[in-house]
Amino acid sequence: MRDLAYLRPRSTGEAVQLFARQPIGARYFAGGTTLFDLMKLGVEAPATVIDVTRIEGLANIDASERGELRIGALAAMSEVAEHAVVLREFPALSESLWQAASQQLRNMATVGGNLLQRTRCAYFRGSPEFACNKRQPGSGCAALGGQNRGHAVLGGSEACVAVYPGDMAVALTAFDAVVDTLSPRGERTVPVRELQRAPGATPHLETVLAADELIVRIRIPRGPVGRASTYHKVRDRESYAFALASAAVAVQLQGQRVADARIALGGVATRPWRATEAERSLRGLPLTRAAARRAAELAFTGAQPLEHNAFKVALGIETVTDALMLAKDRS
Ligand code: SF4
Repeated sequence: MRDLAYLRPRSTGEAVQLFARQPIGARYFAGGTTLFDLMKLGVEAPATVIDVTRIEGLANIDASERGELRIGALAAMSEVAEHAVVLREFPALSESLWQAASQQLRNMATVGGNLLQRTRCAYFRGSPEFACNKRQPGSGCAALGGQNRGHAVLGGSEACVAVYPGDMAVALTAFDAVVDTLSPRGERTVPVRELQRAPGATPHLETVLAADELIVRIRIPRGPVGRASTYHKVRDRESYAFALASAAVAVQLQGQRVADARIALGGVATRPWRATEAERSLRGLPLTRAAARRAAELAFTGAQPLEHNAFKVALGIETVTDALMLAKDRS
């Protein structure tokens, strides 16, 4: 057993001020489905836990604005997945949440925490004896020469090839969502697609957020492109497993031709991965399976497979192609 301080602020302002007063090693706590897991594994060892779950208004889902949907950071994954506006205007987001975890987890886990979940790399979560630059900077990367079947083919570096494990962030990336944050230095807005850093030489720095920065809401622009969307996830077993490859895809057709397309990849990259070249390749074309496949191949240009995960390139191409056809059927 380790001692830790437990604090329970009543407002976001109080939460960030409490954080600022802590010596090093504080963590915000919401649903606990990531933090407690990592504490049990010894990966996280906070000296202070700041429980934000009693802060009023942070769990609201506000669809009153025509221009954007606002989702409070404490909204449960299950509430967002079932929300009528999400189901109607952003089906890919609902599906990403349904496919992300068991019902028990979806009821507990918050969307703010979900964005910040950490990699499932077994070396990172396993014994500290394994070399892992993310867990112990400068120690090396056991996955590069070890078991890397589940690791990234896009966005990796010589220091880390861990996959970003989330589903929801992939859908939000396709929809150009942003997060609003609060810290002792004030408020700011960060696009979800820029929230996770590429590992580069510093894989222990996972997001662009400062340690004391609290996500308070997610905002998603509303428009026609989200309605014909899908989240297609391929995994080792059908339920409650992390993606080997996934795609959040949305299309908007004018007649038979593509007016707008969104493609974001999960399970294959170190961060939620927007495939902008692939999207561009579709604009103005009829959305045939051949065009979808060409776009999918473009999405994997530059992939760098490791010893055990070359299959992810072919699997990812099939996943994106199928997702585009599913989205087309909804348009
Ligand atoms: Fe650690 Fe990243 Fe290497 Fe996994 S891939 S062992 S998380 S450095």
